[in-house]
Amino acid sequence: MLHKVFFACLLAVCGCLPAGAAEAEAVLGTICEINLYERDRAQYQDLYRRIFRRIREIEGIMSANLADTELDKVNKAAGIAPVRVSAELLDTVEQALRYAGLSGGAFDPTIGPLVKLWGIGSEHPQTPAPQAVPQALSLVNWRDAVIDRRAGTLFLRRPGMALDLGAIAKGYAADEAVRLIRQAGIPRAIIDLGGNIFAYGEKEGRQPWRIGVQDPLTPRGSYIGVLEVRDKTVVTSGVYERFFEADGRRYHHLLSTKTGYPAETGLLAVTVIADRSIDADALSTAAFVLGYRDGRALVESVPGAGAVFVFEDRTIRLTAGAIPLFRLSGRGYRVVSD
Ligand code: ADP
Ligand code: MG
Repeated sequence: MLHKVFFACLLAVCGCLPAGAAEAEAVLGTICEINLYERDRAQYQDLYRRIFRRIREIEGIMSANLADTELDKVNKAAGIAPVRVSAELLDTVEQALRYAGLSGGAFDPTIGPLVKLWGIGSEHPQTPAPQAVPQALSLVNWRDAVIDRRAGTLFLRRPGMALDLGAIAKGYAADEAVRLIRQAGIPRAIIDLGGNIFAYGEKEGRQPWRIGVQDPLTPRGSYIGVLEVRDKTVVTSGVYERFFEADGRRYHHLLSTKTGYPAETGLLAVTVIADRSIDADALSTAAFVLGYRDGRALVESVPGAGAVFVFEDRTIRLTAGAIPLFRLSGRGYRVVSD
């Protein structure tokens, strides 16, 4: 699959382990790969298993696409009753709502009705009937998602509302994978949950990891540059991640909460570097939908975070945090500062 090819190339960039050393599974709607860079692999089979079990567990709680997940139960009870859920779902939704507030609602985890309407990333994407868009949009409002900590419940105030954590759950899962790896005393790892990457520790020889930034305009495996990082997560939201074509137009999966259509902000992709993957995941989606000016301000408000903005005219703009980490390598792109 596409992500698999991407990861193979990522390893080529890292250039530091024998082929086939990573473990991969299809989960969270993508291919998840983990590499602990341990030579004696047999010894770590159990840890690999535990990490993937944990990721599947998170999917089983937070997926909006599987039946009977906790999230699905909350969505089905929208407008009817609060639903008791796990502390980690409450925490993740709380983080998502925090980013909704910080982004002025550009990032909104109650985007579910719109995601379903477009079906982007599903087997049946479609351009919706024009009148269906405002109707779905009227059900999107993060202020109508209610967390009751004492009761341990989540409630969506209006019938038809639906949470979708597609923009943040992979980040949370990556952080959880890192937690297990750190607990096991492993010094380094690459966790790649469908392009949502955590470069944990540093490369052997005290070198930084080199994470390729995908060229949004060409097939996977072509890079516009490399980010040199230690113990950081690198997460991209781009028009090429999931999209479909109809009537000669391309519709991607990052939706504007103002128009209900794919967000058009002159950007092809935003890559965010941060300490926690849940932040980078939310920030990359939020910054893409907000556009450069407000997106940059949002990224810069988070300590330790930086971003690479890639524009349709093939210019690249970096936030202060990303400047020391980014090396341009792709032809046809140029870094501008303004
Ligand atoms: P990917 O899933 O490709 O890694 P993102 O992390 O950017 O990319 O998440 C995109 C997903 O987030 C969409 O598929 C959808 O489920 C959800 N989404 C789309 N638009 C928004 C938005 N404005 N706010 C919050 N979530 C969104
Ligand atoms: Mg995201």
